[in-house]
Amino acid sequence: MAHYRVLKNQEISERENLIAELASEVANFTLRIHLPNRSFFEETSGASDLKTTEPIRGLYQLHRVFIIRGLPDEILVDTAAHEVRHAWQHQKQKFRWKPQSERDAEMFAREFNIAIGQPSPSKIVERLITVRSMRVGDVCAWVRNILLKQEGELR
Ligand SMILES: [Zn+2]
Repeated sequence: MAHYRVLKNQEISERENLIAELASEVANFTLRIHLPNRSFFEETSGASDLKTTEPIRGLYQLHRVFIIRGLPDEILVDTAAHEVRHAWQHQKQKFRWKPQSERDAEMFAREFNIAIGQPSPSKIVERLITVRSMRVGDVCAWVRNILLKQEGELR
């Protein structure tokens, strides 16, 4: 059994949240859905908000995407794309049951990575900014600044 706690707003990494947001926006260029809300969670040994039999890094539930904190950039992007596809499944009433829903979400995340040009892990955020600017609209300077800082610098 894995136990997770949903983070409070002030605990969320701005950079991680922005990466997930950019990935969702770029994914939505093809999905065209009403984008779900987003929360982050972490493993806990104390009081938990979520319990799962297997460890998870993401979850879609009640029009909200949940993502575990502290993922490497490329896994975070993959997870955001995967979970937003579950939102699409829900809104379009497609692939409603496992294992088809999981296969479809995994496939979508793979296609998403190909669509943004299969960047290397260290370049994936830069690439997301470029694709987001081309397809959805420019990314403002302070967002770009936060995004291009390396992980550890903000902690
Ligand atoms: Zn899934």
